[in-house]
Amino acid sequence: MLIQNTPVTASCSTAPQGLHASALLTPARQKTLRGTVQCTGIGVHAGESATLRLLPAEPDTGIVFVRTDLKNGARSIKAQWDNVVETRLCTVIGNRYGSKVATIEHLMAALRAADVDNVIVEVDGPEVPIMDGSADSFVFLIDMAGVMVQDAPRRELVVLKPVEVKADGKHVALLPAEESQFDVSISFASALIQTQRYAFTLSQNGFKNEISRARTFGFYDDVEKMRALGFMRGGSLDNAIVVRDETVVNEGGLRFADEFVRHKLLDAIGDLFLAGAPIRGLFKGSCGGHTMHNKLLRALFADETAWVWQEAPALIPAAQA
Ligand SMILES: [Zn+2]
Repeated sequence: MLIQNTPVTASCSTAPQGLHASALLTPARQKTLRGTVQCTGIGVHAGESATLRLLPAEPDTGIVFVRTDLKNGARSIKAQWDNVVETRLCTVIGNRYGSKVATIEHLMAALRAADVDNVIVEVDGPEVPIMDGSADSFVFLIDMAGVMVQDAPRRELVVLKPVEVKADGKHVALLPAEESQFDVSISFASALIQTQRYAFTLSQNGFKNEISRARTFGFYDDVEKMRALGFMRGGSLDNAIVVRDETVVNEGGLRFADEFVRHKLLDAIGDLFLAGAPIRGLFKGSCGGHTMHNKLLRALFADETAWVWQEAPALIPAAQA
């Protein structure tokens, strides 16, 4: 299946596959995709076209990116916190051969929200296509592929005590909680944004309805400066909200009045999935971002008393929840 970097209208003969009701009563198992799907789009920073393919993977594979334009051996990069090599404009992972894949966070958020544990992500260039600047296209792709339960127990990372990182007026923390929760706030001088806060308990439908369509954003003057430095060559009003003088430049306006903070929450979901498994805990972020998210994971893993791996408990059917 192929979709282009335009509004997603492709139809598909494969119905989205959910779990069978009986599976909900058994202990949680790992999941992968049922089929292979792909899309083509532009990398926002280099501005080059890239094709992304999502393929099913064996249990305990995790999320592994494969640069198909590079030679065997140097082209695999596991999506894991200690492989993050750059966080200035987006999240970039790399391996010891110097191979990198950038802008992985929106795809990672969609995979996390769909409870996908194992997938091979093939990309034929240095960047995941930006699509419309949100996770919407990736949610669509995962739905089209379908999700399949595998014969292996699922583990999750349980936060046992608070861990926090503060820097330059930014503050991020992970705290113990019964579910995977996010509480994110941002503060900008722009009268259009000002202070926004969004609290969210992660669920597949909640992500689809409230978070996945929120686009990345930038300020007009910053975009011009970035372009002069050679960044954001693929950036356009098709893949980002652009704010200029307290107004949204994009013709269609905003998708949500608080789309900005919803997108920051989307980024946090994707970046924290680099823990290597779902996190059972509350993430709190105040003016955070990719750099702070990665620092928080490094702080978490540095304190072995702050977390524990646990076999994920059985899911409760919605009717009984
Ligand atoms: Zn983002």
